[in-house]
Amino acid sequence: MKLENFPAEIRADLLPRPGGRLVYHCLGCEREYGIDELLYTCPACGSVFLIEDLDAGRLAALGGAGWQRLFDYRKMLNLPALKGIFLFHEFIAPVLPLEDIVYLGEGHTPLVGASARLRNEVGTEFFFKNDGLNPSASFKDRGMAAAVSYLNMLMRKKGLKELLSVCASTGDTSAAAALYASHLSGRLKSAVLLPQGKITPQQLSQALGSGASVFELPGVFDDCMKVVEHLSEHYDVALLNSKNAWRVLGQESYSFEIAQDFDYQIEDLSLFVPIGNAGNITAVLGGLLKFYRFGIIDGLPRVFGVQSSHADPVFRYFAAPPEKRKYQPVVVKPSVAMAAMIGNPVSMPRVLKNVRAYEERAGGPRFFVVQVDEQSIMDSMLIANRNGHVACTQTGESLAGLRQALAQGLIKPGDRAVLDSTAHALKFSEFQTAYFENRLDPAYGITPRPELVNRPQFVRPEGLARLPAPGAPLEAQDLTAFVQATAQEIARRLQLKPKA
Ligand SMILES: *Cc1c(COP(=O)(O)O)cnc(C)c1O
Ligand SMILES: [Zn+2]
Repeated sequence: MKLENFPAEIRADLLPRPGGRLVYHCLGCEREYGIDELLYTCPACGSVFLIEDLDAGRLAALGGAGWQRLFDYRKMLNLPALKGIFLFHEFIAPVLPLEDIVYLGEGHTPLVGASARLRNEVGTEFFFKNDGLNPSASFKDRGMAAAVSYLNMLMRKKGLKELLSVCASTGDTSAAAALYASHLSGRLKSAVLLPQGKITPQQLSQALGSGASVFELPGVFDDCMKVVEHLSEHYDVALLNSKNAWRVLGQESYSFEIAQDFDYQIEDLSLFVPIGNAGNITAVLGGLLKFYRFGIIDGLPRVFGVQSSHADPVFRYFAAPPEKRKYQPVVVKPSVAMAAMIGNPVSMPRVLKNVRAYEERAGGPRFFVVQVDEQSIMDSMLIANRNGHVACTQTGESLAGLRQALAQGLIKPGDRAVLDSTAHALKFSEFQTAYFENRLDPAYGITPRPELVNRPQFVRPEGLARLPAPGAPLEAQDLTAFVQATAQEIARRLQLKPKA
């Protein structure tokens, strides 16, 4: 819609004016630092940051209903900078001028209701928020859009001609980082560090295709992370892991969209989010807290983190009674939810801070972590996809988490849930293939369920004089004979009845 066609009272605020006073807030010693430099950890104590807006109070003036109206109208505006996560500009990174925003089509992903059959099988109504439909096919694009837009601003302000971004990855961070950097190619270069053999061929091809320098290292993600940290401490590079607090800000857009998807009435929902490095769960909680503070949502929904029993440090922490809780990294075992296979989540201090604030504001327990096994992750993914969805293994983990929460009585049948569908099924299709061919590594502890297995069937009717081959098509009677015999064979296998 054209600017002049919006109602006059909306027009005034439709285009955000850069504002706010953002600082890096250290979660260890509570010191604050300006955002003129890219900082990842506190120079004084080494802890991670969350970015805070010291001037957020100004956002109260418009009122909750005012923000709802503004966001709903803004959705009709055809301005690229505001078509993605920055529709919520004032609540993400209000200091960014619109000219610096990098928009590649991220955000506003579809909310798709589970089919009737799947709903019946699981026992409650639920939705998939399909973040696999982001440009690099995972939710990581949300955070990358914010972090790279900030870098873009920084480079302009400092007159930097060139900058190198680095990240360690379980596959999706590198795909997103390489993609967003390549949009600024010539100015922003990208290097990614991956645990060899621990990411899927699709994810590897994404980083390579975007032109990043790709380094494969022995070990697991946690090892790559240590090397990247060393690089960012000793060299002039921009770290794009979720240690970078700008990533967390961008990922808060997921919560803002859920609010908008449900017309801002979300108190009765239960949100399910797989936890790996814990940046996303931090952002989901942080985003909800912001909207609640300004009266934009009616209440705080229940939030469920989900972890595999093969990589469950956050689950273990919260499973202990509050007075006995002590955080300890775990040694991970292989998990099909490979993007969440992390034993020492960088964002754990952020989770603790946001969970405390969340439950304080909600006035009671509204955050839970459930643990699921590898079998239920795989089976849930396959069942979702047999019912019209495009779930990856981590989305399978979200669904397994919903079933676990129902089984434990943490939610009741009839409660509505939203599953974070964190990546597209195609990125992780090799797990499906291995399941179907029964050649998953025994370390996963998964036995294929025959009713979920699907394999291609080879059809080659006997007794034909000639068969078609590439470059050698059949003609005349040969073709007729082939078509007839093949169709009959397929009809027999499908038990089709001839037309009357
Ligand atoms: C990164 C990722 C996760 C885990 O998110 P964290 O922020 O690391 O907790 C889950 N699913 C997919 C597909 C991912 O790429
Ligand atoms: Zn500090």
